[in-house]
Amino acid sequence: MTATDDDARWAEKKKKQKAARDRMLATKTREKGLLVVHTGTGKGKTTAAMGLVMRALGHGFRVGIVQFVKGKWETGERAILDRFPELVTIRVMGEGFSWDSQDRQRDIAAARAAWAMAQELLADPSYRLIVLDELNIVLRYEHLPVDEVVAVLVARRPDLHVVVTGRNAPDYLIEAADTVTLMDARKHHFRANVKAQQGIEF
Ligand code: ATP
Ligand code: MG
Repeated sequence: MTATDDDARWAEKKKKQKAARDRMLATKTREKGLLVVHTGTGKGKTTAAMGLVMRALGHGFRVGIVQFVKGKWETGERAILDRFPELVTIRVMGEGFSWDSQDRQRDIAAARAAWAMAQELLADPSYRLIVLDELNIVLRYEHLPVDEVVAVLVARRPDLHVVVTGRNAPDYLIEAADTVTLMDARKHHFRANVKAQQGIEF
């Protein structure tokens, strides 16, 4: 077979693929604020949410972010987002639940306070995207009632996008979500004793 035959077959195959894709896309006509969940044990849940924040900001959308788990590092994304105070609101759960905390009652109080902040942002019509980072973690620990949280998320403004991150997303949230992505940990450098790297992990 000559190169020309190969090229002709390739073009024919691509043409069919494009037609199938166009037919498929023609059925996608709805507009909707999405409930997106990033879960699983692999790396990338929060950073993928930050990618969506960047995408939304590029369109001039206002974005609200609530961090339900207090990290120990000053993250790179925080430093960048602080440069856009008119577009981005970041609320970090106060004293309380962190990866190191051992005081359950304090954690519960902190989770409730963060959820109150989240509800305030969810109710503010100026936001187009709300990120609830590591909400899954506090739901997993039952520091917040999952049915109440999901009910509020489902009852959000119909054009508001919400992204929830964290391992172990509860089934009830997964059922309610429009898009769920499971990050799969095929490999992680921690296993080879590489410490958290600046610019990659924080
Ligand atoms: P990132 O913020 O890098 O997107 P993530 O949100 O998916 O990560 P978390 O569960 O929030 O992951 O954990 C945060 C930290 O734990 C990150 O520093 C990340 O590199 C690390 N981490 C994520 N997955 C793993 C894993 N499978 N093993 C060890 N460490 C991990
Ligand atoms: Mg995370």
